[in-house]
Amino acid sequence: MINDADLQFRQSENIYRTLIEESPTPIGLYIGRDMIIQVANKAILEIWGKGDDVINKSYHAILPELEGQKIFKILDEVFTTGITYEATEYQLYIERNGEMQKFYFNFTFKPLKDSEGNVWGVINTANDVTELILIRQKLAESEEQTLFALSAAELGTWNFNPLNKSLVWDMRCQELFGFNHDRYIQFSDFLRGIYPDDFEYVKSETLQAIDKDLRKNFDIKFRTIGIENKQLRWIRAKGNAYFNEDNACNRIAGTVQNITREIADSEEQKKLIAAVKLKNDELNDQIKQFEFVTNFMPVQLWTAKTNGELDFVNQRTLDFLGKEAKEIIGTEGFLKYIHPEDQEASLAIWTQSLQSGTPYQYEFRLEDKKGNYKWQLSRALPFINDGKIIKWFGTNTDIDEQKQLQRQKDDFLGIASHELKTPVTSIKAYAQVLGAMLAKEGEQKKAEMVLRMDSQVNRLTNLIGDLLDVTKINSGRLLFNKTWFDFKQVIKETVEDLQHTTQKHKLIQDLAETGQIFSDKDRIGQVVTNLVTNAIKYSPYTDKIIINTKLENNEVVVCVQDFGIGIPEDKADRVFEQFYRVSGDKQHTFPGLGLGLYISSEIIKREGGKMWVNSIEGKGSTFCFSLPLNKK
Ligand code: ADP
Repeated sequence: MINDADLQFRQSENIYRTLIEESPTPIGLYIGRDMIIQVANKAILEIWGKGDDVINKSYHAILPELEGQKIFKILDEVFTTGITYEATEYQLYIERNGEMQKFYFNFTFKPLKDSEGNVWGVINTANDVTELILIRQKLAESEEQTLFALSAAELGTWNFNPLNKSLVWDMRCQELFGFNHDRYIQFSDFLRGIYPDDFEYVKSETLQAIDKDLRKNFDIKFRTIGIENKQLRWIRAKGNAYFNEDNACNRIAGTVQNITREIADSEEQKKLIAAVKLKNDELNDQIKQFEFVTNFMPVQLWTAKTNGELDFVNQRTLDFLGKEAKEIIGTEGFLKYIHPEDQEASLAIWTQSLQSGTPYQYEFRLEDKKGNYKWQLSRALPFINDGKIIKWFGTNTDIDEQKQLQRQKDDFLGIASHELKTPVTSIKAYAQVLGAMLAKEGEQKKAEMVLRMDSQVNRLTNLIGDLLDVTKINSGRLLFNKTWFDFKQVIKETVEDLQHTTQKHKLIQDLAETGQIFSDKDRIGQVVTNLVTNAIKYSPYTDKIIINTKLENNEVVVCVQDFGIGIPEDKADRVFEQFYRVSGDKQHTFPGLGLGLYISSEIIKREGGKMWVNSIEGKGSTFCFSLPLNKK
């Protein structure tokens, strides 16, 4: 039978148990010197990482990892001495999930004594403060980093109260002002440390920063004299002013930084800028001299940027055009003053030169200030530096007079050859009739002389024909009568005809099938005739001439090779010019006007093809031309 008192006792014991059990503070009760666990609430079990099967087991048995961490010894001492042990932020390693983990605890071991004062157990309360400690450590670390950053930037900090003139600053400030570390710095010391010339500036900026109305941003650069170490330094001081309820500034605080280096660097920069300016002035001088000289020159002189835009023209050019420099410079140049008929081609050639970097040359008519077109030979060369085009230098030379003379010469040639043609044709007709009559009368010798006369008349006819062709070419009146024909066949027939004109030379044909071509048959025949007769004429001591045709990249190529006197290398390209004849000991004995190759190359050019020569002096020449196959 359970009595009331008993019941009451049990009930109150239950209440205590529950309170202890649910308390968020870890609580444990250990009995006897062996520390048998009597009570271990949820919170303490959580710390230990154990279940409630620890009850009635010894403290040492369930936390063997505490061996060597002094805890067992402390507990034993509390039991022996009866004195409470308290620890704060005590570091302990406890096993969790098979690993030793670091914890920090605030804990107490309090002895429990019987009425006679004998210790029978120990009550243990603890608080896990691990999280707190870790956060504090992190904070300390970041503080350290901030301090480190401050010192890396060589920033010093200061704090000044304008009301009582008290100044507090750190070691860095002290250093920058050149004070030894062991000194106590007063406001008056600070004032003494300022470079005298900068004193007024510092004072005025500070007064404006702490002025209740102005509140000017405080960011100044000034010099310190280095009171004790005599080192002059540039420093930058930045600060914020704070104002009380009465709008009086009671604090201005901020940082100082050593900027002696930066100032020195910027001094260096100033020197560099001055040097560059000097160079620029020198260059401007040179440009002025260049302009001065070019303005005297009797040609139009100009320079252009790499995009073709004109950036300089000399006075002569402006005088010719009757314009101001600003109307020409920075524009697309002369284009709008060029004769409409010459514009397109000159622009195309100029653009091509700009793109390829090859010299520019073109003849065009340029409108002068009176509105008259004058022929100009325009040339330009790229100025190259470090492999890059920097600029174009150009000239326009007045060739109007030359052109007029040329026109007069062409007119004369045209008229003269026309006038010559008719009588020569009748001479030829009469000679042929006379020759036939004499032969019939048995006057063989006389008939032969007439025949020779006939062949001279033929040469005369050819020369007149050439002159006529040249005048036609020069005036743009060379006409073509184009048809489809078998190219190889025409070459073959022409060469066969030519074979009759020479006994000495063997014309060897090496002709590939070329198919049909759309061109002027007679003009092509004329070109082949010119090449073959030249080959015969300029190889008096050899007898072989090879005529070869082939198809190459959709073109027909014809080459005539002789083994005669050849052409010096530096003259080879000039043989296609009008009236050009190679001069030399060997050449002067050959008759000719220097027109055949000019006419031939013009014909081929106008048919859309090309003409060229390979030659070795003394070994022979190979003249070739190519024509596009399927061009209509
Ligand atoms: P021409 O023969 O009437 O002088 P061309 O225009 O046909 O005029 O030729 C120009 C010049 O080129 C000739 O004067 C000659 O010096 C040179 N030339 C032409 N063909 C040959 C060749 N096959 N071998 C050497 N020189 C040649």
